[in-house]
Amino acid sequence: MAGILPAMKKLLTLWLALVAGAAAAQPAPPVILISMDGFRPDYLERGVTPNLNRLAAQGARAVAMRPSFPSVTFPNHYTLVTGLRPDHHGMVDNTIIDNSVSDKRFKMSDADAVGDRRWWDQAEPVWVTAEREGIHTGTMFWPGSEAAIHGVRPTIAPKFDGKLPAAERVDTLLSWLDRPADQRFGFMTLYFDDVDHAGHEFGPSAPQTTEAVALVDQAIGRLLDGLASRHVEANLVIVSDHGMADVSATRVLPLHRALPPGSYEEVTSGPYAAINPSSPANEKPLAAALAQPYAHIQCWRKEDIPARLAYGHNARVPAFLCLADPGWSIVFSEKSAAKVKGGKHGYDNAAPEMAATFIAAGPAFKPGVVLPVFDNVDVYPLVMRLLGLTALPSDGDITPLLPALGQ
Ligand SMILES: [Zn+2]
Repeated sequence: MAGILPAMKKLLTLWLALVAGAAAAQPAPPVILISMDGFRPDYLERGVTPNLNRLAAQGARAVAMRPSFPSVTFPNHYTLVTGLRPDHHGMVDNTIIDNSVSDKRFKMSDADAVGDRRWWDQAEPVWVTAEREGIHTGTMFWPGSEAAIHGVRPTIAPKFDGKLPAAERVDTLLSWLDRPADQRFGFMTLYFDDVDHAGHEFGPSAPQTTEAVALVDQAIGRLLDGLASRHVEANLVIVSDHGMADVSATRVLPLHRALPPGSYEEVTSGPYAAINPSSPANEKPLAAALAQPYAHIQCWRKEDIPARLAYGHNARVPAFLCLADPGWSIVFSEKSAAKVKGGKHGYDNAAPEMAATFIAAGPAFKPGVVLPVFDNVDVYPLVMRLLGLTALPSDGDITPLLPALGQ
């Protein structure tokens, strides 16, 4: 009898150790960060998004998420994965001039520039930290994923192919879930641009845009089916980068007519215009012309941009910024004026038309949570928390999202 008790105790200790070991070996659920480019939160009310609405009910959604300024694609995608405002992460626009990097402009459509880490190195995105910490990552498209930022790339990061249908993007991501257990990805991204394309071409209210919304919802449904058939429980964080506003050739602001000919160099035009003087001598006359009041436009020197836009301190921001009222378009030629149609984004990031979408579902999230509006810089600390990683210092704060986690 005397020998049995210690033996049982020993067995119990061994069993407890085994249970603890098994618990420790249990990998965290993978995190899938999904971007639906140009997807406004009110698109969820068009009756064509059963999958997204079900996820929102099972998890958390935001009434709306505020993008960062400028409310365009590359700056906001980099904000979502770094928690930094564009002014702080260096991807200050879809088109950038920085002669210290290249004598060529950075453009979204330039594959060489997109893959050049020097444009991205001012910040460190989620996947770089994750790879360094031993979490494998795969990006089914995300701005920055094609560059070896700080020398690190995702384990798999296909080159962007805008023609690849949404369903095939989903299938590629699903195929990664079939990798051997020790090579599976803890962090993945997925990117859909159909809604943004339709919004630009036809405008946010058009039936074609609603069709694109339905198509992206079906792709999400395909993803959910694929996860279920593999018995994979993932934490899904579904976002958009910005909204979309209706524009018209009747709401055009031909700024070139008001500026001294040859005095400026256009970097960006549309919902906002970013311009530089064409020479140091032209700085003064250009500033004087831009100081005049124009209906539906506000212009500032970069150092005078209102603090709420959190923009203008980065050396890459051009010397002058002009911002149009939502729905209006700044142009620099009569030819561009005639071409304005459909939808645009890039306006004040507080404009309701620019609002972005946020839905999160999975084992980490409480059901049925509706969060008030928060800033998109807050997504980064959430994703890092889900991955069990320490977030780097950023402009984001996880506090507004804690109710979704039940904390
Ligand atoms: Zn976009």
